[in-house]
Amino acid sequence: MISEVMASAEIKKVDPVFGQLSFNDHEQVVFCQDKDTGLKAIIGIHNTVLGPALGGTRMWNYNSEWDALNDVLRLSRGMTYKSAITGLNLGGGKAVIIGDAKTQKTPELMRRFGEFVDSLGGKYITAEDVGMETADMDTVREVTPYVTGISEEKGGAGNPSPITAYGVFMGMKAAAHYCFGDDSLEDKKVLVQGVGHVGETLVDYLTNEGARVFISDINEERLQELNRKYKANILGGNDVYTADVDIYAPCALGATLNDETITALKAKVVAGAANNQLEDELRHGQMLKDRGIAYAPDFLINAGGIINVFAELEGYGKHEIMRKTENIYNTTLEIFTHSDKHGTTTHNSALSIAQERIDTRKMEGKK
Ligand code: NAD
Repeated sequence: MISEVMASAEIKKVDPVFGQLSFNDHEQVVFCQDKDTGLKAIIGIHNTVLGPALGGTRMWNYNSEWDALNDVLRLSRGMTYKSAITGLNLGGGKAVIIGDAKTQKTPELMRRFGEFVDSLGGKYITAEDVGMETADMDTVREVTPYVTGISEEKGGAGNPSPITAYGVFMGMKAAAHYCFGDDSLEDKKVLVQGVGHVGETLVDYLTNEGARVFISDINEERLQELNRKYKANILGGNDVYTADVDIYAPCALGATLNDETITALKAKVVAGAANNQLEDELRHGQMLKDRGIAYAPDFLINAGGIINVFAELEGYGKHEIMRKTENIYNTTLEIFTHSDKHGTTTHNSALSIAQERIDTRKMEGKK
């Protein structure tokens, strides 16, 4: 009896649903299940004040449903701030499908998922993420109009990676302007970690600008290919974080900025495409600031992809996509100024400017 009472007291301490930290003000979370196709998906809608919640669908073999839930909540919150800071009239959302994209993804499963998206009536709009291809979005399009990232033949905006790379390049130039007093990257030593879809285009921009480019990747073939194509210097193993470079561009994984790496970094600027670069947003954002390293917030400078898919909804073309992406330069400078003025980290400055935009819109809506 006593243990039952204690158990219920413990449960009350952290409510199982809204009490979870990761729920973080989410408006709506939808659990989708279909036994026939094996679909198990979660759609997280964090905030729709600025517009419909747009964010990709990730298919991943999660270790547990909790991991899947935490991932979707963390990612959908991130989308709210990414769109808000970029000035897009979009809210934040994301979806995850639990399963192995290589063996469990079928057209039937994707269509069933699309029906769930459709049932939300446009409150959530999906797109590609890890484990998804343009062809999957085309399949989803068969059952709902609330999908972006479809193929160019079907009226989509095409591959977002080159646009993402352009935005990162703009953010990097702004950070260089702030840190070195000049936004030219000529002769600057830049390390691009991860030379995949985004990394390669970034290397291309950097090479054209006359930067001295260093590359690292776990894929040896990619390294050799880029070395041949761009004469980029290959960095290996532990050299990555201690390399004598001016700029570090994380374009592979998240959480590469942590206690160990920040202490080791020689770079004076960090600007890259990877999502969630700071292992701990508060602590590591502050560590970078304390060490005088100019950090261009990831969710701001990698927004080219969302600008690209937003074009599908708004019907604007390549010229406007590039103009909006180029504006990442100005917003990044604004963030550095705000951070200096308020003594906050650039990450927190970007978050607070994004939140201000949302709050203002909310107040206007209430008038
Ligand atoms: P990608 O999969 O094409 O490329 C990632 C590259 O990183 C690969 O070459 C891979 O071998 C390499 N890599 C993986 N682990 C590594 C490690 N430990 N060390 C070094 N290299 C490693 O991905 P992408 O589309 O180029 O995206 C890169 C990053 O940018 C990802 O974090 C992604 O979430 C983020 N991002 C991409 C877009 C986009 O439009 N593609 C938009 C926003 C954010």
